Amino acid sequence: MTDSASETAQAVADAIDSEETIDLLQEMVQIPSPYFEEHDCAEFVYEWLDERGLDPEYHHVSEPDITEYEGDNVIARIEGTDPDAPTVLLNGHIDTVKLVEAWEEDPCSGRIEDGKLYGQGACDMKGGVAGIMAAFAALAESDVEPRGDVLLTAVVDEEGPYGLGSDRLIRDGLLDEVDVAVVTEPGPILSQSEVENPALILGARGRFLYDVTVTGLAAHGSQPEKGTNAVVDAGRVAEALDELPVDSHPLLGDGSVCPLLIEGGSQTLSVPESARVMADRHVVPGEDEATVREQAETAIADLDLDSDVEIDFRESPDPGIKYGPYVTDRDHPLVGAFEDATRSVAGVDPAVAYFSSVGDFNYFGDPDRADLPTLIVGPDGENIHSAGEFVYTDEVVEVARIVAEGTTRLVC
Ligand SMILES: [Zn+2]
Repeated sequence: MTDSASETAQAVADAIDSEETIDLLQEMVQIPSPYFEEHDCAEFVYEWLDERGLDPEYHHVSEPDITEYEGDNVIARIEGTDPDAPTVLLNGHIDTVKLVEAWEEDPCSGRIEDGKLYGQGACDMKGGVAGIMAAFAALAESDVEPRGDVLLTAVVDEEGPYGLGSDRLIRDGLLDEVDVAVVTEPGPILSQSEVENPALILGARGRFLYDVTVTGLAAHGSQPEKGTNAVVDAGRVAEALDELPVDSHPLLGDGSVCPLLIEGGSQTLSVPESARVMADRHVVPGEDEATVREQAETAIADLDLDSDVEIDFRESPDPGIKYGPYVTDRDHPLVGAFEDATRSVAGVDPAVAYFSSVGDFNYFGDPDRADLPTLIVGPDGENIHSAGEFVYTDEVVEVARIVAEGTTRLVC
């Protein structure tokens, strides 16, 4: 990249006003938007973009079968001049977890104190959404004529059970022309290793959720030998799952298993005839659905239970909805552009880390789904998904500038 192109990218980042960006964040935090109830926040994002002449559109998300959800992503595009130049996706989710009851203040106060902005979703991830909106607007309003496109997507239902908003972007072909994805989820706080911002997160483990049905045989509870106790066998299944072998990956670490739920039986004096076990299984590359199923089948067969055991994965609106693991190549130009941008904005080299759990970024990075080089860079805070959640306001502005500069470097 030439010196003048670097200067152009820096100028776009410098145009981001910190006060405006924090005001934008505060307004978004003050609009409650737990998953499946994002309408007001989507409308706010739409209007913010519309007032700036940035031509937003609603993109409808419908899932009639399981969740009966209807909602709207908000998208906007900066058109580049060269169809062969890369298209950059900027993605963030506008929903939060359900408002946690333990807050000692209004969970949507947006109160700012000591450089921390408080509220449900402040860190996860309205801070990051404010960052990409500010970066998008700065590039659109600059004199720069980008060669490549920039696609802004403020999506719904990331915190809900299926990541329906980003899933729908892929299904409707909106990412077909996209070359790289940038997601501004909180970074270091959810990474595998102890790093601090500025940090670039270059991969994530994947996840499956076992849903195991155990069927025994009912009998009078005073004569348990005449039945097969599904609750007891479910306990054995949970233990066997807990001890499953897991693979290891040099960058993503180890896979993991965590039994989450056992249910079944009743207070009636009957041998319980059915029970259910659910277990989380985080995976690394090489551990796919078939491997993970086979591992559980083998471990459970070894138990030689009298109950019938049926191993499944949680119900899903579509078999394509799953969280595969991914790793983004460190040498990809996306990473180089954001390393340069971080050095320019923050004056230091970014840390590089990998995410511990899953999110919409898996849909983008997973070779079986959008298969995009995917990078997470986001502001940190504390108490994500709980009471007292906050984000560091200076990191929100820093991320906005890194995204603005990194994206400009890629599309210019
Ligand atoms: Zn999130």
